[in-house]
Amino acid sequence: MLRIIMLGPPGAGKGTQAKRMAQKFGIPHISTGDMLRAAVREGTPLGLKAQEYMNAGGLVPDDVIIGLVRERLAQKDCEKGFLLDGFPRTVAQAEAVDEAGIAIDHVIELAVPDDDVVVRLTGRRICPNCGALYHVTLSPPKQAGVCDKCGTALITRDDDKEETVRNRLRVYHQSTAPLVAFYEAKGLLRRVDATGSVDDVFKGILDITGEA
Ligand SMILES: [Zn+2]
Repeated sequence: MLRIIMLGPPGAGKGTQAKRMAQKFGIPHISTGDMLRAAVREGTPLGLKAQEYMNAGGLVPDDVIIGLVRERLAQKDCEKGFLLDGFPRTVAQAEAVDEAGIAIDHVIELAVPDDDVVVRLTGRRICPNCGALYHVTLSPPKQAGVCDKCGTALITRDDDKEETVRNRLRVYHQSTAPLVAFYEAKGLLRRVDATGSVDDVFKGILDITGEA
């Protein structure tokens, strides 16, 4: 069994690593955001309940989300384990995971210094015409500021502006620090240096999970 919770700031490459892990370990990558949308689409009783809260513009309460997570983890593809992404977000939710009798083997935190995240995210450029993605240093276009595919001037998304990125990081650290401490106290927290290449970071994860 490999029951994993993934933590990491925006820009840490969580999505990329989660996808690789799911493939390598043969376990599903469970994003609670995707799951909520699926439950609503399928009209399950919990999905309908979640929809009520979302329609009212509010947050879906912990007991509804934990209900969804339990339903999801009971499905056959979770026999060998699972990879939870986006949940738990708070200590209350982590306690709810415990109370639901859901055992966790590893809480993997992808660690990247804030300044690195800022460089990664603020360097991103997108073509407003064709959607092509670039990075000023990591994957620059042939001509600076111009889309290779269609010649349109590239732009920076609002989400990738420095002030926004710093703010997202602040929110992440504030909400995640208690969660990290919670799992550290349980001896489940595994911190992986996520400053290296995608392959290096993945190797670091394999070292922890012992599945290399
Ligand atoms: Zn373009």
